[in-house]
Amino acid sequence: MKTIVTPRRTKIVATLGPASSDEKTLASMIEAGLDVVRMNFSHGTAKEHASRVEMVRALARKAGRAVGVLVDLQGPKIRIGRFKNDRVNLDTGDKFVLDAERKIGDAGGVGLDYKNLPQDVTPGDTLLLDDGRIVLAVTKVQGARIHTVVEQGGPLSNNKGINRKGGGLTAPALTEKDMEDIKTAARLKADYLAVSFPRSGADIQWARDLMLKAGGRSLICAKIERAEAITALAEILDASDSVMVARGDLAVEVGDAVVPALQKRMIRMARERNKIVITATQMMESMINNPIPTRAEVSDVANAVLDGTDAVMLSAETAAGSFPVETIAAMARVCLEAEKEDTFAVERRRTDFPESVEEAIARATIFTSNSLNIKAVAALTQSGKTALLMSRMNSKVPVYALSSVIETRRRVTLFRGVYPIAFKGARDPETALNMAEDELLKRGAVHRGDYIVLTIGEPFGKAGGTNTMKIVKVGEHRKA
Ligand code: PGA
Ligand code: MN
Repeated sequence: MKTIVTPRRTKIVATLGPASSDEKTLASMIEAGLDVVRMNFSHGTAKEHASRVEMVRALARKAGRAVGVLVDLQGPKIRIGRFKNDRVNLDTGDKFVLDAERKIGDAGGVGLDYKNLPQDVTPGDTLLLDDGRIVLAVTKVQGARIHTVVEQGGPLSNNKGINRKGGGLTAPALTEKDMEDIKTAARLKADYLAVSFPRSGADIQWARDLMLKAGGRSLICAKIERAEAITALAEILDASDSVMVARGDLAVEVGDAVVPALQKRMIRMARERNKIVITATQMMESMINNPIPTRAEVSDVANAVLDGTDAVMLSAETAAGSFPVETIAAMARVCLEAEKEDTFAVERRRTDFPESVEEAIARATIFTSNSLNIKAVAALTQSGKTALLMSRMNSKVPVYALSSVIETRRRVTLFRGVYPIAFKGARDPETALNMAEDELLKRGAVHRGDYIVLTIGEPFGKAGGTNTMKIVKVGEHRKA
């Protein structure tokens, strides 16, 4: 008897870039376990992104898989301008001027791409450049010029980012470029749209409105990467479908030591509110140059899995690194192993009540699956909503989302423990059950005689949510 396949529950998001744009590498990345590609709109043209998305989808089709697409907007990341010789070296104690009107920089100062920055800072503020590698103390603001003293020196090159310690920069969450890029994302039928540096629920709603106006249906992911977003976390979560623990910028604004606890809080709050959560940045950083991760990186990925994240994300590792395929493979094996140790095979949500029929069915399904010997859940779903609700609870039982809607199959690629299966649809529940069983048997997900839970919406074939749960012994109900 073939052993049952235990699929990895935590999903892998990988950023595409120069190191991952040829067919051969992409095909290997998909084979190694890539679930969702991140298109980083801070780099590249709309045309480049479109051709990558097309390539990914064609390869996924060929592999018989669904791969999701997440478009990540650049957002109002504030940057310095360029230097005459592309870089300077700043020494601790040097004076350095950030000048909104300056064109080209040198060791004494540099230009800014956000002209209002001088209005946002006051003497005594700390500015962090290049993800905190360079620290500047503001001494004086004069018109367009911010005078500073270098507190932490080092090399500084063109277009590096600027953060203010403690947050409080006022640039709106969507730039002109972002608004254009939302239209591109809609055209590409992106499954997810990530909004960079949102401060409030209103920022998320703004992006959602523009997406709908552009005719797109992308789910909205809020990147939590500013100090203000932590204060407004509940409100941002309520306005979003998903959040990203964007540890890169967040650590610069709130301090690196605060981030691990915030990661746990964000994951818990997201799951409680039925939202999807991605843990991002530097997870396998050393694999940009090395074929194996460090022990600390292995622990970091495993801990995100144990925290309950839906997905772990790769940035430069797959966009610009030397080992994109190896990195995904390493991440996949670390996730799989950590999931074995996952401590919550019991339903923890006993204190609050389900808010909808779907949620009641989802909870009953997972509760049953965790307490009886259920091998798989087969969720027949149009929108994927029931599958999402199921995956907000802890379980080791895989949820197969059987859907005829390709957009739904691509969305669920990000849901922890949920796997998309293309499903033509059937005329009656009995046929649907047979077809679902066949799909699971074909995949090695179950054997004949195993128990599964099937969820469907009845009356069958009518629009409407899931309202039925059935415990079935595979093959039993068929005529001999
Ligand atoms: P970025 O966002 O990679 O677009 O900066 C993620 C982060 O800040 O962690
Ligand atoms: Mn960021």
